[in-house]
Amino acid sequence: MRSYSLLAPAKINLYLEILGDRPDGFHELVMVLQGVELADQIDLRVGGMGNIYVECNHPEVPSDRSNLAYRAAELMTQQFPDCFARFGGISVAIQKNIPVGAGLAGGSSNAAAVLVGLDLLWDLGLTQDELEELGATLGSDVPFCIAGGTALATGRGEQLDTLPGLDGLYVILAKFRSLSVSTPWAYQTYRKKFSTSYLKDSTDLELRRQQVHSGPMLNAIAHHNSVKIGQLLHNDLEKVVLPEFPEVLRLRETFQRLGVLGTMMSGSGPTVFALVESEEKAHQIKEQVKREIANPDLDLWVTKFAKAGIQVVGGR
Ligand code: ATP
Repeated sequence: MRSYSLLAPAKINLYLEILGDRPDGFHELVMVLQGVELADQIDLRVGGMGNIYVECNHPEVPSDRSNLAYRAAELMTQQFPDCFARFGGISVAIQKNIPVGAGLAGGSSNAAAVLVGLDLLWDLGLTQDELEELGATLGSDVPFCIAGGTALATGRGEQLDTLPGLDGLYVILAKFRSLSVSTPWAYQTYRKKFSTSYLKDSTDLELRRQQVHSGPMLNAIAHHNSVKIGQLLHNDLEKVVLPEFPEVLRLRETFQRLGVLGTMMSGSGPTVFALVESEEKAHQIKEQVKREIANPDLDLWVTKFAKAGIQVVGGR
């Protein structure tokens, strides 16, 4: 038996702009993705008889093929059948700390950890690019979850440009436990409402990507200007999620009033995050939000920007 323990961090979107439709049915996006330290732990073991076995301590996370971590293991067995035959069954134990269906890419990060872990356990020596390419076949967020840190993501989110790493920024995450937003619903509703303004011409798409690349958010990141980063947070999906989910809007407004650097919904929501400059301030804001909203269904976390993606924390 060989095993590794890995940390699979969550991500937030500092910027999410929908540019248009793609022939594959996804959307053409420009995003700035940021890893945070809130992470699931993945214990990965190979050896003995058996096939692929996934378990998770969270009741809403499936153990079958619909688990993205399962599909990551399955993909590796298809790509490297000799290793699978040589090393034996794969067991994946997921300890969930990242809220589920939250817009924080928990499932994608679990899949990323399985790819990174099996590369190590099977002594494959894949490059990061090769791992990211495999990851992209599982989901648009998987390549970023492998890379971590801060990145500009284009295409459907799988094409990454690494940006200068940001640290020293703290994040408060807020999510109502019983609330989740379906990512396909959010994008389909956006398409219904806003597709008339989609860019169609490939030159226009490229021009807009270039504008974001040399625009104010990337400039603020390059200069580590936290105040500007806070002011420039943007997420097009808020236009469809906030009107439908007043609780999410209330979280946004509450954070805003408490004087954070910036606040925004992450991905397709419903998690709302707020940025502050110190850990002390983050805890103070967390307590204030808890008092003001006073709803036992509300979960809050304090975390910080992370520089790395998947990390190995143990193995034998
Ligand atoms: P994204 O930001 O990539 O849209 P998310 O944070 O909104 O992701 P996830 O937590 O990844 O959403 O999970 C969405 C759904 O996928 C859940 O309803 C869950 O049943 C299913 N799922 C499959 N595999 C996993 C996994 N390993 N962890 C969490 N959820 C998973």
